[in-house]
Amino acid sequence: MLNICITADHELFFGDNYVPEEDVLIKPTYNLMDMLGENGASLVIMSDVLSIFRYRELGMNEFPESMEEQLVYAIKNGHDVQLHIHSHWINSTYSNGKWEFDYSKYKIHDLGFEDRRDGTPSAADVIRNGKKYLEDLLIPVDSSYVCRAFRAGGWNLMPERELLKALLNEGIWIDTSIFKGGRLETGIHGFDYTNVPESINWWIDPDMGIEHMAQMDDDAVFEMVIGSCYKMPGLLVKKIENSLLGRIRKKRLSETPPRGTAFADAQGGTLSEFAKKLGNYLGQPLMLSYDGVCKEVMLGIVKHYLKSYDCENNDYYLSVIGHPKSMGNIALLELEGFCRRINRDYKSIVRFVNTSEIKFQKR
Ligand SMILES: [Zn+2]
Repeated sequence: MLNICITADHELFFGDNYVPEEDVLIKPTYNLMDMLGENGASLVIMSDVLSIFRYRELGMNEFPESMEEQLVYAIKNGHDVQLHIHSHWINSTYSNGKWEFDYSKYKIHDLGFEDRRDGTPSAADVIRNGKKYLEDLLIPVDSSYVCRAFRAGGWNLMPERELLKALLNEGIWIDTSIFKGGRLETGIHGFDYTNVPESINWWIDPDMGIEHMAQMDDDAVFEMVIGSCYKMPGLLVKKIENSLLGRIRKKRLSETPPRGTAFADAQGGTLSEFAKKLGNYLGQPLMLSYDGVCKEVMLGIVKHYLKSYDCENNDYYLSVIGHPKSMGNIALLELEGFCRRINRDYKSIVRFVNTSEIKFQKR
């Protein structure tokens, strides 16, 4: 069986947020959960818990309350909630109605793994506190709730050794940060997932690293990879198809206006910056994502997995990634179309699951 986990990075924009938090994140996430529920799927909310902590520290309680209410709603309604960390919240400040984000702590590694004398949290503290927070909030709602999965902010899992050890120390044994073929070096992002094992999923021993397949045991992390296509004939054609279909649909339907920007605009508009962005785009794999990927192309990626791996005789797990903050009405319709096609044509070989349904539950 090919088991698909539809995940959502549950977070605000880290540049500007043009509308209130409720409209940026909370409402689109409810829409997403409800649509998936009607189509026989559940959502795995990867919740950016450090944003909740930082709002509270600064005495802003309304948004954390909405976040928590949403996480409780998710668990009550058969969805799932797991851990996503954007460590730059720790040093970010708020003035004149606007966040000033400190990207120098954008990678969780930037917090360091050693114990701190100055009382600021290390990466290991943040993971421990995040897991504890989710379990304290959600076990009273469902006694079987476990925080078992992690996604690194900005997909920054590398260097992985200490990070994976810190996750295992807290009993988090699933990672879903990697997309095969991904490579990005921007100063705040730094990873290279071009040499990972061929298999859809694999176990990672922190001492051996992500490029080696380890045995399943208590000292290994299960990689529930984000679906992607790279090194595939016709990949560029697929990218062009996706962008054309996207344009046609935007013309036909009125698209929701953008609710924010990814980063405070550091890009500028010079030719070399443009070439860099274009190079990044062309060099990146096509991700199994509802962030601007049309249903036909998402389906094409799933078909590629079905063709390349023996899903009849093995259980594989794949993540779909997306961001409610940037999801407009078209993306919601595309994802709905994708779910309906899977349910109609692939029911015998593809099913939607969340992390509690992964077969070899370790804990
Ligand atoms: Zn994120």
